[in-house]
Amino acid sequence: MATLFKAPDRASVQAFVATLRGKAIRKGEDGYETARKVYNGMIDRKPWMIVRCAGVADVMHSVNFAREQGLTLAIRGGGHSVPGFGTCDDGLVLDLGAMKGVRVDPKQRTARFQTGCTWGDADHAAHAFGLATPGGVISTTGVSGLTLGGGFGHLTRRYGLSCDNVVSVDVVTADGQFLTASASENSDLFWALRGGGGNFGVVTSLEFKLHPVSVVYAGPVFYPVEKATDALRLYRDVMSRAPRELSVFFAFLIVPPGPPFPESLHMKTVCGVMCVYSGDLTKGETAVKPFLDFGPPVFSHVGPIPYPMVQGMFDPLLPPGLQHYWKADFVKEISDTFIVEYAKYGKQVPTVNSAIHIYPLGGAVSDVGRSDTAFAWRDAGFVHIIAAVSSDASVMPKYRDWVRDFWTALHPCCAGGTYVNFLMEEGEERITASYQENYQRLAKIKQKYDPSNLFHVNQNIKPAP
Ligand SMILES: Cc1cc2nc3c(=O)[nH]c(=O)nc-3n(C[C@H](O)[C@H](O)[C@H](O)COP(=O)(O)OP(=O)(O)OC[C@H]3O[C@@H](n4cnc5c(N)ncnc54)[C@H](O)[C@@H]3O)c2cc1C
Repeated sequence: MATLFKAPDRASVQAFVATLRGKAIRKGEDGYETARKVYNGMIDRKPWMIVRCAGVADVMHSVNFAREQGLTLAIRGGGHSVPGFGTCDDGLVLDLGAMKGVRVDPKQRTARFQTGCTWGDADHAAHAFGLATPGGVISTTGVSGLTLGGGFGHLTRRYGLSCDNVVSVDVVTADGQFLTASASENSDLFWALRGGGGNFGVVTSLEFKLHPVSVVYAGPVFYPVEKATDALRLYRDVMSRAPRELSVFFAFLIVPPGPPFPESLHMKTVCGVMCVYSGDLTKGETAVKPFLDFGPPVFSHVGPIPYPMVQGMFDPLLPPGLQHYWKADFVKEISDTFIVEYAKYGKQVPTVNSAIHIYPLGGAVSDVGRSDTAFAWRDAGFVHIIAAVSSDASVMPKYRDWVRDFWTALHPCCAGGTYVNFLMEEGEERITASYQENYQRLAKIKQKYDPSNLFHVNQNIKPAP
């Protein structure tokens, strides 16, 4: 039976709000309806209060208040969690979105990002110095949530996961303490924060290594959907011997009705690849050539382009507020059976906003040992995601069934676990499968830093008994 929510008493609330520099918004107050919303329009939760934190002090006060008052606490970085972990019913939401401080150190090639930064903010700041660090493929995703779960994108095969590039982390733990975690300080916490999600505290900033990446050779290549099986085989072959500089994701998609796509393709279902070569541009031309030679393509738009533009390329297709239903799995190797099932269901991609993608891992991801960070799936060659996305809530039950059928057909060809950041609320077994043998160690670290499981609105790791 659901327990009735009891708000803290008035005097405690007044005292708490007086400690804040940021804004506290409660039900019924101006801005509440906007402030309670997260990226996935399917999520409709009503927190008791949302605190738009102005800085670390607000985070410390809020963590202490939530713990003392026994409030459910949800942490929001970029708000992109598809299961909606950036909000909750009744409890307190810490919205870090206003904490956008950035400091790039071009000499050391590092940058510290506060955890309200999106990848758009991070890429923009680093690009001014001809530098970048691996982030996600949509610029509005939060640096913090993505990195805490692992994080991959176009630079990952070359430079590793986002979490592999983290040098140090500032974090407020469940007891309200401010700690720095790095290889030399609170190293157990540092290990857990690189893949273990938001289980261990509220991260207030992350320091990253940066790499010289400025203009990349990149763009999409589309093929008729009838060529899907051969295109998938080509993708498998090219990626099996691709240099680390080359990252290519495979997709089924409905062509958006606008430029740069020719009108003859608007709203047509195609398959294709999105190529990004982050090394020498002339070598990039050679690296993507097999994809241009195949088909022939019905559309291609590949060439030199500033890295932040690639990062923002798909943003218009995925504005906030759409309905999202996702399922995903790691894939060790793309088998013939996988290709058959993928081609069969992929052709049924339901909407122009949906993402039916296979992302490549390997390369630098596999240089790191399975137990060197909390992110365990170092031997996965790929991660596939089936994301049905629509503005129309009424069609979602149908699309959800299709996602499940598609995923079920592929699952026997997959590695047996998934990427935590692509999980919806799928139960404890799927969470433990995401961490494999690292789960027990994570549970022990959780016991040390958050024994009462204050941070449980996430892919939850239970404190070890
Ligand atoms: C359109 C889209 C594109 C995506 N593309 C990629 C991609 O290319 N690569 C990839 O790896 N992932 C990708 N993802 C998945 C993404 O990594 C997760 O959705 C991630 O949780 C988003 O982080 P956020 O900060 O935006 O989300 P939020 O909803 O703000 O946070 C998600 C969860 O992370 C934790 N968290 C966030 N910030 C903090 C913090 N400062 N301290 C403690 N805990 C925190 C909390 O548990 C929170 O509930 C994508 C997601 C979407 C919706």
